[in-house]
Amino acid sequence: MARYTGPKCRLCRREGTKLFLKGVRCESEKCGLTRRQSAPGVHGTAHRRKASDFGIQLREKQKVKRIYGVLERQFRKYFDAASKKSGVTGEFLLVTLERRLDNAVYRSNLAVSRAQARKYITEKKIMVNGKTVSIPSFSVKKGDKISSDYAKVQSEKELPVWITAKAKDFEILGLPVREDIKEDIQEQLIVEFYSR
Ligand code: SF4
Repeated sequence: MARYTGPKCRLCRREGTKLFLKGVRCESEKCGLTRRQSAPGVHGTAHRRKASDFGIQLREKQKVKRIYGVLERQFRKYFDAASKKSGVTGEFLLVTLERRLDNAVYRSNLAVSRAQARKYITEKKIMVNGKTVSIPSFSVKKGDKISSDYAKVQSEKELPVWITAKAKDFEILGLPVREDIKEDIQEQLIVEFYSR
């Protein structure tokens, strides 16, 4: 499973916004973006030129990839699959990302970040319907029950409406819809990027 292993705060500084990649630290004063807001690299403090339409679309795509921890090849596959469905491509894309098991574990508060959720999954510490699943991109569906003998609830963040806690399990009540995804994402820009 390919994944980005470089410094995470650098990604937030590149996008100029908090991507919440490090769990508890992201909410604290130690947040890398709070401490240093310039873009990374030797020219990071230089005056930024006004971004072109292409630049804006590119940054939105990169931001969403980084939020969900997905690399370009997989992201492009998700986009291609979404564009074949009848309906709003950008919304299908986000819902597909949201249904990833690593995201569902994170949303269930069993991990402080998607990266930690991915680690639990690859270490075979997460079960779906009582069976171990070790693939972070596994797509959850209505009725699935996520559980773990190892991971504990790590935060009191409100669960999204499509997930509910039942005893030791977290049940997927239904597929998420666009309104359930609270991150500041303009998915239309991603569609425009790939449609050039
Ligand atoms: Fe981004 Fe701040 Fe979290 Fe680092 S600590 S990953 S800069 S939100």
